[in-house]
Amino acid sequence: MILTIICNVLLYIFIKIKVLARIININNVVNKVTKGTDLEIELQNDIYNDEISVLTGDLNKMFGRLKKYANNLEYIGSHDLLTSLINRNKLTEYISELKNNNEEFALFFIDLDNFKNINDTLGHNVGDELLCQVAKELKEYTENENVIISRIGGDEFIVVRKGKNNNDEIEKFADSMLIKLNKTYSIKNYSYKIKASMGISLYPQHSADEVSLMQYSDIAMYHSKKNGGNKYNIFNKKMLESLEIENKLKNAIRNEEFEVYYQPIYCISNNKIIGAEALVRWKTEDGMLYPDKFIPLAKKTGDIVDIDMFVLRQAISLCREWIDKGKEQFYVSINASKRFLKQNNFIGIIEKELKYQNVPTSALKLEITEDEIIDDAEYTEKLLKEIRKIGIGVYLDDFGTGYSSFNHIKTLPIDVVKIDRSLLINIEEDIEAKSIVETMISLCHKLKLKVVCEGVEELAQVEILKQINCDDIQGYYFSKPLPKKLFNKFLEEF
Ligand code: C2E
Ligand code: CA
Ligand code: CA
Repeated sequence: MILTIICNVLLYIFIKIKVLARIININNVVNKVTKGTDLEIELQNDIYNDEISVLTGDLNKMFGRLKKYANNLEYIGSHDLLTSLINRNKLTEYISELKNNNEEFALFFIDLDNFKNINDTLGHNVGDELLCQVAKELKEYTENENVIISRIGGDEFIVVRKGKNNNDEIEKFADSMLIKLNKTYSIKNYSYKIKASMGISLYPQHSADEVSLMQYSDIAMYHSKKNGGNKYNIFNKKMLESLEIENKLKNAIRNEEFEVYYQPIYCISNNKIIGAEALVRWKTEDGMLYPDKFIPLAKKTGDIVDIDMFVLRQAISLCREWIDKGKEQFYVSINASKRFLKQNNFIGIIEKELKYQNVPTSALKLEITEDEIIDDAEYTEKLLKEIRKIGIGVYLDDFGTGYSSFNHIKTLPIDVVKIDRSLLINIEEDIEAKSIVETMISLCHKLKLKVVCEGVEELAQVEILKQINCDDIQGYYFSKPLPKKLFNKFLEEF
Protein backbone atom coordinates (compact mmCIF):
# COMPACT_ATOMS: atom_id res chain seq x y z
CA MET A 1 0.00 0.00 0.00
CA ILE A 2 2.83 2.34 0.98
CA LEU A 3 4.55 1.55 -2.31
CA THR A 4 1.33 2.25 -4.21
CA ILE A 5 0.90 5.60 -2.42
CA ILE A 6 4.52 6.56 -3.13
CA CYS A 7 4.07 5.58 -6.79
CA ASN A 8 0.85 7.68 -7.05
CA VAL A 9 2.52 10.70 -5.47
CA LEU A 10 5.50 10.35 -7.83
CA LEU A 11 3.13 9.91 -10.77
CA TYR A 12 1.20 12.99 -9.70
CA ILE A 13 4.41 15.05 -9.41
CA PHE A 14 5.54 13.79 -12.78
CA ILE A 15 2.20 14.60 -14.45
CA LYS A 16 2.08 18.02 -12.75
CA ILE A 17 5.56 18.99 -13.98
CA LYS A 18 5.48 17.44 -17.41
CA VAL A 19 1.83 17.98 -18.36
CA LEU A 20 -0.39 20.06 -16.04
CA ALA A 21 2.05 22.93 -15.40
CA ARG A 22 2.71 23.28 -19.13
CA ILE A 23 -1.00 23.20 -19.98
CA ILE A 24 -1.75 25.80 -17.29
CA ASN A 25 1.02 27.96 -18.75
CA ILE A 26 -0.44 27.59 -22.25
CA ASN A 27 -3.89 28.37 -20.88
CA ASN A 28 -2.61 31.55 -19.17
CA VAL A 29 -0.99 32.81 -22.36
CA VAL A 30 -4.06 32.00 -24.47
CA ASN A 31 -6.20 33.84 -21.91
CA LYS A 32 -3.91 36.86 -22.12
CA VAL A 33 -4.27 36.90 -25.90
CA THR A 34 -8.04 36.49 -25.91
CA LYS A 35 -8.74 38.99 -23.15
CA GLY A 36 -6.06 41.60 -23.78
CA THR A 37 -4.78 43.50 -26.79
CA ASP A 38 -1.16 42.46 -26.38
CA LEU A 39 -0.28 40.32 -29.38
CA GLU A 40 3.48 40.43 -28.74
CA ILE A 41 3.16 37.39 -26.42
CA GLU A 42 4.92 34.16 -27.34
CA LEU A 43 5.02 30.74 -25.61
CA GLN A 44 8.41 29.64 -24.39
CA ASN A 45 9.60 26.49 -26.20
CA ASP A 46 10.36 23.83 -23.58
CA ILE A 47 12.98 21.16 -23.31
CA TYR A 48 10.55 18.31 -24.01
CA ASN A 49 9.77 16.91 -27.34
CA ASP A 50 6.24 15.65 -27.08
CA GLU A 51 2.68 16.52 -28.21
CA ILE A 52 2.54 19.54 -25.87
CA SER A 53 5.74 20.91 -27.40
CA VAL A 54 4.16 20.51 -30.86
CA LEU A 55 1.03 22.30 -29.58
CA THR A 56 3.24 25.12 -28.20
CA GLY A 57 4.95 25.52 -31.56
CA ASP A 58 1.60 25.56 -33.42
CA LEU A 59 0.15 28.11 -31.02
CA ASN A 60 3.20 30.35 -31.50
CA LYS A 61 2.71 30.12 -35.26
CA MET A 62 -0.95 31.07 -34.79
CA PHE A 63 -0.02 34.03 -32.59
CA GLY A 64 2.39 35.19 -35.28
CA ARG A 65 -0.30 35.07 -37.95
CA LEU A 66 -2.76 36.77 -35.64
CA LYS A 67 -0.28 39.57 -35.07
CA LYS A 68 0.26 40.03 -38.80
CA TYR A 69 -3.47 40.01 -39.38
CA ALA A 70 -4.05 42.59 -36.66
CA ASN A 71 -1.28 44.79 -38.09
CA ASN A 72 -2.92 44.55 -41.50
CA LEU A 73 -6.25 45.53 -40.01
CA GLU A 74 -4.70 48.49 -38.27
CA TYR A 75 -3.03 49.58 -41.51
CA ILE A 76 -6.30 49.31 -43.43
CA GLY A 77 -8.08 51.31 -40.75
CA SER A 78 -5.56 54.10 -40.77
CA HIS A 79 -4.34 54.32 -44.37
CA ASP A 80 -5.56 55.04 -47.84
CA LEU A 81 -4.83 51.84 -49.74
CA LEU A 82 -4.46 53.54 -53.12
CA THR A 83 -1.78 56.06 -52.22
CA SER A 84 -0.62 54.57 -48.87
CA LEU A 85 -0.99 57.99 -47.29
CA ILE A 86 -2.75 58.07 -43.92
CA ASN A 87 -6.54 58.43 -44.01
CA ARG A 88 -9.01 60.73 -42.27
CA ASN A 89 -9.18 58.56 -39.08
CA LYS A 90 -5.47 58.62 -38.52
CA LEU A 91 -5.31 62.31 -39.37
CA THR A 92 -7.97 63.11 -36.77
CA GLU A 93 -6.02 61.06 -34.21
CA TYR A 94 -2.85 62.94 -35.09
CA ILE A 95 -4.58 66.31 -34.78
CA SER A 96 -5.96 65.35 -31.35
CA GLU A 97 -2.46 64.43 -30.27
CA LEU A 98 -1.11 67.82 -31.42
CA LYS A 99 -3.88 69.55 -29.52
CA ASN A 100 -3.19 67.53 -26.36
CA ASN A 101 0.46 68.55 -26.60
CA ASN A 102 -0.53 72.23 -27.11
CA GLU A 103 1.21 72.33 -30.49
CA GLU A 104 0.22 75.00 -33.04
CA PHE A 105 -0.40 73.79 -36.56
CA ALA A 106 -1.68 74.81 -40.00
CA LEU A 107 -4.06 72.63 -41.97
CA PHE A 108 -3.84 72.77 -45.78
CA PHE A 109 -6.84 71.43 -47.69
CA ILE A 110 -5.87 70.54 -51.27
CA ASP A 111 -8.29 69.71 -54.06
CA LEU A 112 -7.14 69.04 -57.63
CA ASP A 113 -8.62 71.46 -60.15
CA ASN A 114 -9.37 69.42 -63.22
CA PHE A 115 -9.36 65.94 -61.77
CA LYS A 116 -13.06 65.15 -62.09
CA ASN A 117 -12.91 65.83 -65.77
CA ILE A 118 -9.98 63.47 -66.31
CA ASN A 119 -11.56 60.78 -64.14
CA ASP A 120 -14.90 61.00 -65.94
CA THR A 121 -13.54 61.08 -69.45
CA LEU A 122 -10.47 58.84 -69.21
CA GLY A 123 -11.65 56.34 -66.63
CA HIS A 124 -10.81 55.43 -63.07
CA ASN A 125 -7.54 53.68 -63.91
CA VAL A 126 -6.00 56.85 -65.20
CA GLY A 127 -7.58 58.78 -62.31
CA ASP A 128 -6.11 56.37 -59.74
CA GLU A 129 -2.66 56.50 -61.27
CA LEU A 130 -2.82 60.28 -61.29
CA LEU A 131 -3.74 60.34 -57.59
CA CYS A 132 -0.77 58.09 -56.82
CA GLN A 133 1.58 60.40 -58.66
CA VAL A 134 0.18 63.44 -56.90
CA ALA A 135 0.57 61.64 -53.56
CA LYS A 136 4.18 60.86 -54.45
CA GLU A 137 4.87 64.55 -55.05
CA LEU A 138 3.33 65.42 -51.69
CA LYS A 139 5.12 62.62 -49.82
CA GLU A 140 8.42 64.42 -50.32
CA TYR A 141 7.23 66.98 -47.79
CA THR A 142 7.03 64.31 -45.10
CA GLU A 143 10.83 64.19 -45.05
CA ASN A 144 10.29 67.11 -42.72
CA GLU A 145 9.09 65.45 -39.52
CA ASN A 146 6.73 68.36 -38.79
CA VAL A 147 4.63 67.57 -41.85
CA ILE A 148 2.02 64.89 -42.27
CA ILE A 149 -0.02 64.19 -45.41
CA SER A 150 -3.30 62.39 -45.78
CA ARG A 151 -5.79 61.64 -48.51
CA ILE A 152 -9.28 62.06 -47.13
CA GLY A 153 -11.18 60.95 -50.21
CA GLY A 154 -11.48 61.49 -53.95
CA ASP A 155 -8.97 64.08 -55.05
CA GLU A 156 -8.82 65.73 -51.63
CA PHE A 157 -5.64 65.80 -49.59
CA ILE A 158 -4.92 67.37 -46.22
CA VAL A 159 -1.46 68.44 -45.17
CA VAL A 160 -0.81 69.31 -41.52
CA ARG A 161 2.26 71.30 -40.66
CA LYS A 162 3.02 71.69 -36.99
CA GLY A 163 4.95 74.57 -35.51
CA LYS A 164 4.30 78.21 -34.66
CA ASN A 165 1.94 79.73 -37.23
CA ASN A 166 3.69 82.49 -39.10
CA ASN A 167 1.72 83.79 -42.10
CA ASP A 168 4.77 84.44 -44.29
CA GLU A 169 6.09 80.93 -43.77
CA ILE A 170 2.69 79.38 -44.26
CA GLU A 171 2.20 81.24 -47.53
CA LYS A 172 5.65 80.22 -48.73
CA PHE A 173 4.92 76.60 -47.90
CA ALA A 174 1.52 76.75 -49.66
CA ASP A 175 3.11 78.34 -52.71
CA SER A 176 5.77 75.70 -52.93
CA MET A 177 3.16 72.91 -52.80
CA LEU A 178 1.11 74.54 -55.56
CA ILE A 179 4.19 74.91 -57.73
CA LYS A 180 5.14 71.30 -57.07
CA LEU A 181 1.70 69.97 -57.95
CA ASN A 182 1.20 72.19 -60.96
CA LYS A 183 2.90 70.04 -63.57
CA THR A 184 2.32 67.67 -66.41
CA TYR A 185 1.93 64.08 -65.26
CA SER A 186 2.49 61.27 -67.73
CA ILE A 187 0.47 58.09 -67.62
CA LYS A 188 0.78 55.37 -70.26
CA ASN A 189 2.43 57.69 -72.77
CA TYR A 190 -0.17 60.41 -72.30
CA SER A 191 0.33 63.75 -70.59
CA TYR A 192 -2.10 65.35 -68.18
CA LYS A 193 -1.81 68.85 -66.83
CA ILE A 194 -2.96 69.15 -63.23
CA LYS A 195 -3.34 72.15 -60.96
CA ALA A 196 -4.61 72.37 -57.42
CA SER A 197 -6.59 74.70 -55.21
CA MET A 198 -5.78 75.11 -51.55
CA GLY A 199 -7.43 76.43 -48.40
CA ILE A 200 -5.65 76.93 -45.09
CA SER A 201 -6.95 77.01 -41.52
CA LEU A 202 -4.88 77.59 -38.40
CA TYR A 203 -4.94 76.08 -34.91
CA PRO A 204 -5.70 77.60 -32.49
CA GLN A 205 -6.25 80.91 -34.33
CA HIS A 206 -9.36 79.87 -36.30
CA SER A 207 -10.86 77.21 -34.07
CA ALA A 208 -10.04 74.73 -31.32
CA ASP A 209 -12.18 72.08 -32.92
CA GLU A 210 -10.80 69.83 -35.65
CA VAL A 211 -14.11 69.43 -37.45
CA SER A 212 -14.41 73.21 -37.81
CA LEU A 213 -10.77 73.48 -38.85
CA MET A 214 -11.33 71.02 -41.67
CA GLN A 215 -14.53 72.77 -42.69
CA TYR A 216 -12.84 76.18 -42.66
CA SER A 217 -9.93 75.01 -44.77
CA ASP A 218 -12.46 73.47 -47.16
CA ILE A 219 -14.33 76.79 -47.39
CA ALA A 220 -11.06 78.65 -48.03
CA MET A 221 -10.19 76.07 -50.71
CA TYR A 222 -13.56 76.65 -52.33
CA HIS A 223 -12.72 80.36 -52.53
CA SER A 224 -9.49 79.55 -54.32
CA LYS A 225 -11.37 77.34 -56.73
CA LYS A 226 -14.05 79.93 -57.41
CA ASN A 227 -11.37 82.50 -58.16
CA GLY A 228 -9.92 80.45 -60.95
CA GLY A 229 -8.01 77.68 -59.15
CA ASN A 230 -4.25 77.11 -58.80
CA LYS A 231 -4.41 79.36 -55.73
CA TYR A 232 -4.36 79.22 -51.96
CA ASN A 233 -6.43 81.22 -49.48
CA ILE A 234 -6.11 81.48 -45.73
CA PHE A 235 -9.52 81.20 -44.08
CA ASN A 236 -11.24 84.31 -42.74
CA LYS A 237 -14.66 84.87 -41.17
CA LYS A 238 -15.89 86.86 -44.20
CA MET A 239 -15.79 83.63 -46.20
CA LEU A 240 -18.49 82.20 -43.93
CA GLU A 241 -20.70 85.21 -44.64
CA SER A 242 -20.38 84.90 -48.38
CA LEU A 243 -21.01 81.16 -48.15
CA GLU A 244 -24.20 81.91 -46.25
CA ILE A 245 -25.31 84.39 -48.94
CA GLU A 246 -24.40 81.85 -51.59
CA ASN A 247 -26.59 79.18 -49.99
CA LYS A 248 -29.45 81.65 -49.61
CA LEU A 249 -28.98 82.69 -53.25
CA LYS A 250 -29.96 79.23 -54.45
CA ASN A 251 -33.24 79.37 -52.53
CA ALA A 252 -33.85 82.96 -53.56
CA ILE A 253 -33.94 82.00 -57.19
CA ARG A 254 -36.32 79.12 -56.45
CA ASN A 255 -38.56 81.29 -54.23
CA GLU A 256 -38.53 84.21 -56.66
CA GLU A 257 -37.27 86.64 -54.05
CA PHE A 258 -35.90 88.97 -56.71
CA GLU A 259 -37.60 92.11 -57.87
CA VAL A 260 -36.72 94.28 -60.81
CA TYR A 261 -36.46 98.03 -60.33
CA TYR A 262 -36.43 100.44 -63.26
CA GLN A 263 -34.46 103.64 -63.55
CA PRO A 264 -35.76 106.12 -66.13
CA ILE A 265 -33.53 107.27 -68.97
CA TYR A 266 -34.10 110.82 -70.16
CA CYS A 267 -33.58 111.94 -73.75
CA ILE A 268 -32.25 115.51 -74.06
CA SER A 269 -33.36 116.16 -77.64
CA ASN A 270 -37.07 115.54 -77.06
CA ASN A 271 -37.22 116.17 -73.30
CA LYS A 272 -38.84 112.79 -72.67
CA ILE A 273 -38.23 109.63 -70.71
CA ILE A 274 -37.52 107.21 -73.54
CA GLY A 275 -36.69 104.07 -71.66
CA ALA A 276 -35.35 102.52 -68.47
CA GLU A 277 -32.55 100.38 -67.15
CA ALA A 278 -33.62 97.23 -65.33
CA LEU A 279 -31.76 96.74 -62.03
CA VAL A 280 -32.32 93.75 -59.83
CA ARG A 281 -33.01 93.80 -56.08
CA TRP A 282 -33.11 90.90 -53.62
CA LYS A 283 -35.78 91.01 -50.94
CA THR A 284 -34.46 88.92 -48.05
CA GLU A 285 -36.03 88.35 -44.63
CA ASP A 286 -33.55 90.87 -43.24
CA GLY A 287 -34.31 93.59 -45.76
CA MET A 288 -33.38 94.49 -49.30
CA LEU A 289 -29.99 93.56 -50.70
CA TYR A 290 -28.41 95.64 -53.47
CA PRO A 291 -26.55 94.08 -56.39
CA ASP A 292 -23.06 94.76 -55.02
CA LYS A 293 -23.81 92.28 -52.20
CA PHE A 294 -24.77 89.37 -54.44
CA ILE A 295 -24.12 89.97 -58.16
CA PRO A 296 -20.34 89.38 -58.00
CA LEU A 297 -21.01 86.16 -56.06
CA ALA A 298 -23.75 85.07 -58.47
CA LYS A 299 -21.33 85.66 -61.33
CA LYS A 300 -18.85 83.29 -59.74
CA THR A 301 -21.38 80.57 -58.93
CA GLY A 302 -23.20 80.83 -62.24
CA ASP A 303 -26.52 81.74 -60.58
CA ILE A 304 -26.31 85.00 -62.52
CA VAL A 305 -27.72 83.25 -65.59
CA ASP A 306 -31.03 82.60 -63.82
CA ILE A 307 -31.09 86.11 -62.38
CA ASP A 308 -30.46 87.74 -65.76
CA MET A 309 -33.07 85.51 -67.33
CA PHE A 310 -35.61 86.58 -64.71
CA VAL A 311 -34.78 90.26 -65.28
CA LEU A 312 -35.05 89.75 -69.05
CA ARG A 313 -38.60 88.36 -68.80
CA GLN A 314 -39.72 91.12 -66.45
CA ALA A 315 -38.17 93.78 -68.69
CA ILE A 316 -39.90 92.42 -71.77
CA SER A 317 -43.24 92.41 -69.98
CA LEU A 318 -42.76 96.08 -68.98
CA CYS A 319 -42.08 96.91 -72.64
CA ARG A 320 -45.29 95.11 -73.59
CA GLU A 321 -47.27 97.26 -71.13
CA TRP A 322 -45.92 100.56 -72.48
CA ILE A 323 -46.21 99.57 -76.11
CA ASP A 324 -49.85 98.72 -75.36
CA LYS A 325 -50.24 102.20 -73.91
CA GLY A 326 -49.05 103.64 -77.21
CA LYS A 327 -45.44 104.41 -76.27
CA GLU A 328 -44.03 102.44 -79.16
CA GLN A 329 -40.43 103.63 -78.88
CA PHE A 330 -40.16 102.66 -75.20
CA TYR A 331 -37.25 100.36 -74.36
CA VAL A 332 -35.67 98.63 -71.37
CA SER A 333 -31.96 97.89 -71.14
CA ILE A 334 -30.79 94.94 -69.11
CA ASN A 335 -27.33 94.15 -67.75
CA ALA A 336 -26.08 91.08 -69.55
CA SER A 337 -23.38 89.16 -67.72
CA LYS A 338 -20.76 87.11 -69.54
CA ARG A 339 -22.27 83.79 -68.52
CA PHE A 340 -25.69 84.95 -69.64
CA LEU A 341 -24.31 85.92 -73.04
CA LYS A 342 -22.37 82.70 -73.38
CA GLN A 343 -25.36 80.40 -73.07
CA ASN A 344 -25.82 78.01 -75.93
CA ASN A 345 -28.13 79.47 -78.53
CA PHE A 346 -28.28 82.85 -76.78
CA ILE A 347 -29.91 84.56 -79.78
CA GLY A 348 -32.56 81.84 -79.98
CA ILE A 349 -33.37 82.20 -76.27
CA ILE A 350 -33.82 85.98 -76.51
CA GLU A 351 -35.88 85.78 -79.69
CA LYS A 352 -38.14 83.20 -78.11
CA GLU A 353 -38.77 85.36 -75.03
CA LEU A 354 -39.54 88.43 -77.16
CA LYS A 355 -41.82 86.47 -79.44
CA TYR A 356 -43.64 84.93 -76.49
CA GLN A 357 -44.68 88.38 -75.28
CA ASN A 358 -44.93 89.81 -78.79
CA VAL A 359 -42.38 92.55 -78.21
CA PRO A 360 -40.12 93.89 -81.02
CA THR A 361 -36.37 93.39 -80.70
CA SER A 362 -35.93 97.19 -80.81
CA ALA A 363 -37.51 97.43 -77.33
CA LEU A 364 -34.66 95.51 -75.74
CA LYS A 365 -31.10 96.73 -75.17
CA LEU A 366 -28.24 94.76 -73.69
CA GLU A 367 -25.67 96.48 -71.48
CA ILE A 368 -22.27 94.84 -71.42
CA THR A 369 -19.05 95.87 -69.70
CA GLU A 370 -15.58 95.64 -71.14
CA ASP A 371 -14.10 93.66 -68.27
CA GLU A 372 -16.67 90.94 -68.85
CA ILE A 373 -15.86 90.47 -72.51
CA ILE A 374 -12.18 91.25 -72.67
CA ASP A 375 -10.95 87.67 -72.26
CA ASP A 376 -12.80 86.40 -75.29
CA ALA A 377 -13.00 89.36 -77.62
CA GLU A 378 -13.32 87.36 -80.82
CA TYR A 379 -16.29 85.32 -79.60
CA THR A 380 -18.04 88.39 -78.14
CA GLU A 381 -17.55 90.40 -81.28
CA LYS A 382 -19.25 87.72 -83.32
CA LEU A 383 -22.11 87.42 -80.82
CA LEU A 384 -22.63 91.17 -80.55
CA LYS A 385 -22.83 91.40 -84.33
CA GLU A 386 -25.56 88.75 -84.33
CA ILE A 387 -27.41 90.54 -81.52
CA ARG A 388 -27.38 93.80 -83.47
CA LYS A 389 -28.37 92.03 -86.65
CA ILE A 390 -31.69 90.95 -85.13
CA GLY A 391 -32.31 94.54 -83.99
CA ILE A 392 -31.28 94.53 -80.34
CA GLY A 393 -29.17 97.52 -79.33
CA VAL A 394 -25.83 96.93 -77.58
CA TYR A 395 -24.70 99.37 -74.87
CA LEU A 396 -21.15 99.54 -73.57
CA ASP A 397 -21.63 100.05 -69.81
CA ASP A 398 -19.39 101.78 -67.24
CA PHE A 399 -17.21 103.43 -69.83
CA GLY A 400 -14.31 105.27 -68.23
CA THR A 401 -13.60 102.67 -65.54
CA GLY A 402 -11.38 99.60 -65.37
CA TYR A 403 -10.38 98.30 -68.74
CA SER A 404 -11.87 101.12 -70.79
CA SER A 405 -10.12 101.96 -73.97
CA PHE A 406 -11.04 103.94 -77.03
CA ASN A 407 -9.66 101.14 -79.10
CA HIS A 408 -12.54 98.98 -77.95
CA ILE A 409 -15.13 101.56 -78.83
CA LYS A 410 -13.64 101.71 -82.29
CA THR A 411 -13.67 97.99 -82.91
CA LEU A 412 -16.58 96.57 -80.89
CA PRO A 413 -19.93 96.29 -82.64
CA ILE A 414 -21.94 98.54 -80.29
CA ASP A 415 -24.60 101.26 -80.57
CA VAL A 416 -24.37 103.27 -77.38
CA VAL A 417 -21.70 104.15 -74.80
CA LYS A 418 -22.70 104.70 -71.18
CA ILE A 419 -20.26 107.05 -69.48
CA ASP A 420 -19.67 106.05 -65.90
CA ARG A 421 -20.79 108.14 -62.95
CA SER A 422 -17.21 108.53 -61.70
CA LEU A 423 -16.33 110.71 -64.71
CA LEU A 424 -19.28 113.02 -64.15
CA ILE A 425 -18.59 113.90 -60.54
CA ASN A 426 -17.73 117.60 -60.38
CA ILE A 427 -18.08 118.30 -64.10
CA GLU A 428 -19.99 121.43 -63.13
CA GLU A 429 -16.89 122.82 -61.36
CA ASP A 430 -13.88 120.99 -62.74
CA ILE A 431 -13.05 122.27 -66.23
CA GLU A 432 -10.69 119.41 -66.93
CA ALA A 433 -13.30 116.78 -66.00
CA LYS A 434 -15.79 118.54 -68.24
CA SER A 435 -13.41 118.63 -71.18
CA ILE A 436 -12.62 114.90 -70.80
CA VAL A 437 -16.31 114.03 -71.02
CA GLU A 438 -16.80 116.47 -73.87
CA THR A 439 -13.98 114.84 -75.83
CA MET A 440 -15.41 111.40 -75.16
CA ILE A 441 -18.84 112.44 -76.37
CA SER A 442 -17.53 114.03 -79.53
CA LEU A 443 -15.36 110.99 -80.26
CA CYS A 444 -18.33 108.68 -79.81
CA HIS A 445 -20.40 110.84 -82.13
CA LYS A 446 -17.67 110.67 -84.76
CA LEU A 447 -17.92 106.89 -84.50
CA LYS A 448 -21.71 107.17 -84.86
CA LEU A 449 -22.32 106.04 -81.29
CA LYS A 450 -24.89 107.55 -78.99
CA VAL A 451 -23.91 108.55 -75.43
CA VAL A 452 -25.79 108.05 -72.16
CA CYS A 453 -24.36 109.67 -69.05
CA GLU A 454 -25.24 107.83 -65.84
CA GLY A 455 -25.23 108.75 -62.18
CA VAL A 456 -26.34 112.32 -62.78
CA GLU A 457 -27.60 113.81 -59.53
CA GLU A 458 -27.60 117.60 -60.00
CA LEU A 459 -29.33 120.05 -62.29
CA ALA A 460 -25.95 121.72 -62.93
CA GLN A 461 -24.65 118.42 -64.35
CA VAL A 462 -27.70 118.14 -66.58
CA GLU A 463 -27.12 121.68 -67.92
CA ILE A 464 -23.49 120.93 -68.75
CA LEU A 465 -24.33 117.63 -70.41
CA LYS A 466 -26.84 119.44 -72.62
CA GLN A 467 -24.13 121.96 -73.49
CA ILE A 468 -21.60 119.31 -74.48
CA ASN A 469 -24.06 117.37 -76.64
CA CYS A 470 -24.75 114.32 -74.52
CA ASP A 471 -27.71 112.34 -75.90
CA ASP A 472 -29.40 110.72 -72.90
CA ILE A 473 -29.15 111.05 -69.12
CA GLN A 474 -29.79 108.62 -66.30
CA GLY A 475 -29.46 109.34 -62.61
CA TYR A 476 -31.00 110.27 -59.29
CA TYR A 477 -31.64 113.77 -60.61
CA PHE A 478 -34.57 112.31 -62.56
CA SER A 479 -35.26 109.32 -60.39
CA LYS A 480 -33.74 106.52 -58.39
CA PRO A 481 -34.47 103.01 -59.66
CA LEU A 482 -38.13 102.33 -58.82
CA PRO A 483 -40.28 99.22 -58.39
CA LYS A 484 -42.52 98.67 -61.40
CA LYS A 485 -45.66 100.28 -59.98
CA LEU A 486 -43.86 103.46 -58.95
CA PHE A 487 -41.91 103.53 -62.19
CA ASN A 488 -45.15 103.40 -64.20
CA LYS A 489 -46.58 106.21 -62.10
CA PHE A 490 -43.44 108.28 -62.60
CA LEU A 491 -43.56 107.78 -66.34
CA GLU A 492 -47.24 108.69 -66.58
CA GLU A 493 -46.66 111.90 -64.65
CA PHE A 494 -43.38 113.00 -66.29
P1 C2E B 1 -24.74 99.68 -63.39
O1 C2E B 1 -25.22 98.90 -64.53
O2 C2E B 1 -23.66 100.69 -63.64
O3 C2E B 1 -26.03 100.36 -62.79
C1 C2E B 1 -26.08 101.67 -62.35
C2 C2E B 1 -25.97 101.71 -60.87
O4 C2E B 1 -25.82 103.07 -60.45
C3 C2E B 1 -27.21 101.20 -60.17
O5 C2E B 1 -26.82 100.61 -58.94
C4 C2E B 1 -27.98 102.48 -59.89
O6 C2E B 1 -28.87 102.38 -58.81
C5 C2E B 1 -26.85 103.42 -59.57
N1 C2E B 1 -27.21 104.81 -59.85
C6 C2E B 1 -28.03 105.27 -60.81
N2 C2E B 1 -28.12 106.58 -60.76
C7 C2E B 1 -27.33 107.00 -59.76
C8 C2E B 1 -26.99 108.30 -59.22
O7 C2E B 1 -27.45 109.33 -59.67
N3 C2E B 1 -26.14 108.31 -58.18
C9 C2E B 1 -25.62 107.19 -57.65
N4 C2E B 1 -24.79 107.29 -56.62
N5 C2E B 1 -25.90 105.95 -58.13
C10 C2E B 1 -26.75 105.87 -59.18
P2 C2E B 1 -27.33 99.20 -58.54
O8 C2E B 1 -28.76 99.06 -58.90
O9 C2E B 1 -26.93 99.01 -57.14
O10 C2E B 1 -26.52 98.23 -59.48
C11 C2E B 1 -25.16 98.08 -59.35
C12 C2E B 1 -24.59 97.24 -60.44
O11 C2E B 1 -25.05 95.88 -60.34
C13 C2E B 1 -25.04 97.67 -61.83
O12 C2E B 1 -24.24 98.72 -62.22
C14 C2E B 1 -24.84 96.43 -62.63
O13 C2E B 1 -23.49 96.30 -63.03
C15 C2E B 1 -25.13 95.33 -61.62
N6 C2E B 1 -26.50 94.84 -61.83
C16 C2E B 1 -27.66 95.36 -61.38
N7 C2E B 1 -28.70 94.61 -61.78
C17 C2E B 1 -28.19 93.59 -62.52
C18 C2E B 1 -28.76 92.47 -63.23
O14 C2E B 1 -29.98 92.27 -63.28
N8 C2E B 1 -27.92 91.64 -63.89
C19 C2E B 1 -26.57 91.85 -63.90
N9 C2E B 1 -25.82 91.00 -64.56
N10 C2E B 1 -26.00 92.88 -63.24
C20 C2E B 1 -26.80 93.74 -62.57
CA1 CA C 1 -25.83 98.98 -66.43
CA1 CA D 1 -23.11 101.56 -65.48
